[in-house]
Amino acid sequence: MSVDSGDAKIRVAVIGSGPAGSYAAGHLLRHSATELHVDLFERLPTPWGLVRAGVAPDHPKIKSVTRVYEKTAEHARLRYFGNVEFGRDLTVEDLRAHYNAIIYAVGTPIDRELGIPGETLERSYAATDFVGWYNAHPDFAEHEFDLRGERAVVIGAGNVALDVARMLMLSERELACTDVADHALAVLARSNIREVLVVGRRGPQQAAFTNPELLELAELAEAEVAVSREDIALCDGIEDPGIDAIARRNDKIMHDYAALAGGEKARRIELRFLLSPIEIHGTNAVEAVTFARNELVASDDGSLRARATAERLTIPAHTVFRAIGYRGTPLPGVPFDEARAVIANAGGRVTDEQGARHGEYVVGWAKRGPSGVIGTNKKDAADTVERLLEDLGGGRLLSPAPVSDAALATYIHDRAPHAVDYAGWVRIDRHELALGAASGRPRVKLTTIAELLAIAEREQ
Ligand SMILES: Cc1cc2nc3c(=O)[nH]c(=O)nc-3n(C[C@H](O)[C@H](O)[C@H](O)COP(=O)(O)OP(=O)(O)OC[C@H]3O[C@@H](n4cnc5c(N)ncnc54)[C@H](O)[C@@H]3O)c2cc1C
Repeated sequence: MSVDSGDAKIRVAVIGSGPAGSYAAGHLLRHSATELHVDLFERLPTPWGLVRAGVAPDHPKIKSVTRVYEKTAEHARLRYFGNVEFGRDLTVEDLRAHYNAIIYAVGTPIDRELGIPGETLERSYAATDFVGWYNAHPDFAEHEFDLRGERAVVIGAGNVALDVARMLMLSERELACTDVADHALAVLARSNIREVLVVGRRGPQQAAFTNPELLELAELAEAEVAVSREDIALCDGIEDPGIDAIARRNDKIMHDYAALAGGEKARRIELRFLLSPIEIHGTNAVEAVTFARNELVASDDGSLRARATAERLTIPAHTVFRAIGYRGTPLPGVPFDEARAVIANAGGRVTDEQGARHGEYVVGWAKRGPSGVIGTNKKDAADTVERLLEDLGGGRLLSPAPVSDAALATYIHDRAPHAVDYAGWVRIDRHELALGAASGRPRVKLTTIAELLAIAEREQ
């Protein structure tokens, strides 16, 4: 008999410690009819997914949501295994042999491509890379961004495009009091970029910005915000039948921006509309972008879509940031829906050609694609956990051979010798906070796996 008498435990492996995985773990632990035991796996030594590695450094309040995730992670029935990657250290067979259920919460880590000539020129950057770099994600620590030119074009009309534009336009003083990666602070402080054009293919009413992100553009210390009057005039009088309260307010804010006189600050962000990039030009590196002028036409379902006219517009630019969305990548041994670029699922149950795969579930962006704010993942995770509990009640979970907590931990450590436990993450957290306190910043992030492990594994 095992010393911890854990043999009969119902065990759930959650893969990914971003908002979706953290909320899913919280919902599982709150379930009272049966005590569930959660092992939370994360490929980085550090938890919290895009809250640490996506949310912009100048949005500290948004990051405070991690207090909720910390409470979950400190629960007696949860074990955190950082620096353990599904597909590299553990396979789906390993997990199916030891857990009653697996929940994938791996997000959608790569950028969507534009699919136009010149996309791979130097100085044409994926927003995913830039965001990871300024947020000290170890995968991007070695990336280099050339910000020596005066104009950058950001392609996309969502909050990530605005984050990129803002990060390029924040002054050194504004950046220096954030947790931006040190390597990014050094480069951004020396940036020559004076103008950022944020370009959407449809009009202001169709932009995916949220109101606060749009409004804060007017609060930048050294950059003013403008909206192209020419572009906005082309959309005036065309009411989107699907317009909601957020889009209506966006439309009003953008008309207010278009009416601003401008010209007082040294830098500017301009929002442009009805333009689709068709080619990025340059010998080796970006020199200009050609756009097709679009018009708005009604689709069969009544929504307004962009249709290219014959008009072309070429805008000189030194850098391009492609911010048209994130996409998922397949996990080894896990069915993938290529069309939607998410893990194949029906309402959170992973599916293959035979239907639902017993004991496998998905939450968050890996389930529904890259849309929605942090809070959206809470209800989304609850829905999937509800399906899991239905399957638990119906006897449809996996039935692995019983294993003790200690034996399972040994099994995981054999496969991932540098796994970081929650105490290891707390050591990293305290270290980063202390570095921050010493320099008047909220936190100074460590940027390489080696540095993170050195602190996590430090003798107490
Ligand atoms: C640039 C950007 C800025 C944003 N800003 C905001 C904001 O200000 N406010 C807001 O409300 N929302 C914001 N969002 C949206 C929010 O971040 C998402 O809704 C949320 O993070 C999605 O949660 P998730 O858990 O599905 O994915 P993620 O947050 O991506 O988490 C996935 C986790 O899984 C891990 N993982 C991946 N593969 C593996 C593997 N094979 N093995 C183990 N672990 C793995 C990853 O390392 C990561 O920790 C932003 C998104 C982006 C991209």
